[in-house]
Amino acid sequence: MPDDTRLRRTCFGSYDLRAMSDVPDIERYAAERARMVSEQIERRGIRSPRVLDAFRWVPRERFMPPGAIGQAYDDGAFPIDCGQTISQPYMVACMTEQLALTGGERVLEIGTGSGYQAAILANLAAHVYSVEWHLRLMNEAADRVRGLGLTNVTYRCGDGSVGWAEYAPYDAIMVTAGAPSVPEALGAQLAEGGRLVVPVGDRTEQVLVRIVRRGGKLERDEGIRCRFVKLVGEAGWGAD
Ligand code: SAH
Repeated sequence: MPDDTRLRRTCFGSYDLRAMSDVPDIERYAAERARMVSEQIERRGIRSPRVLDAFRWVPRERFMPPGAIGQAYDDGAFPIDCGQTISQPYMVACMTEQLALTGGERVLEIGTGSGYQAAILANLAAHVYSVEWHLRLMNEAADRVRGLGLTNVTYRCGDGSVGWAEYAPYDAIMVTAGAPSVPEALGAQLAEGGRLVVPVGDRTEQVLVRIVRRGGKLERDEGIRCRFVKLVGEAGWGAD
């Protein structure tokens, strides 16, 4: 077999298809992924070519629970281990676009979950710091992301509602769980010009809040409605 049939080249480099032999029907998923990007993401108004390319590259089927791979390109969130979810692709794209990443940023993600969002961010920024409450989810996500050849993600198991002070300040911060209010520590860990996106609301429905730090002040905008699993921990809903 010539090399180019085993290595899929993309604008981000290549990944080794032999390492993906546990996922059947690679070509079928590539076609479904392309359709998902154009119908679910592009058509709803996401325009950034870098963001669209990242979604064309990351194989979402790798982040689905066993037995649910066939639903990888459905237009919705899906349950994963520990009572959590992998977010709807469009929602991931919306939040990613709002971070306006150009490639050199250090990004903090709260809620690693399946690792899908982390893999998208790793394609768009210099380094991703990702915090997850559940150790099992964190370990599985880290394996998946590394399995794609992405080595610019550092993980921590713990309470991300207080951020990750050790590597602050961050150029961008994304919270992928619903918070009762914008966690104070996250605003404090934002660099000048930095963007923070966080779903804020009650336990069942939230609105996407975008914060930008300008001249030392935090400017706030509200965007679309959304539904995320709850943020637990000190600045979240508690760990019940
Ligand atoms: N970004 C994920 C979506 C994960 S769902 C993906 O692409 O799949 C939200 C995740 O946030 C869950 O895994 C949950 O365990 C985690 N979470 C909730 N509260 C947290 C906290 N205080 N610190 C870290 N992770 C938290």
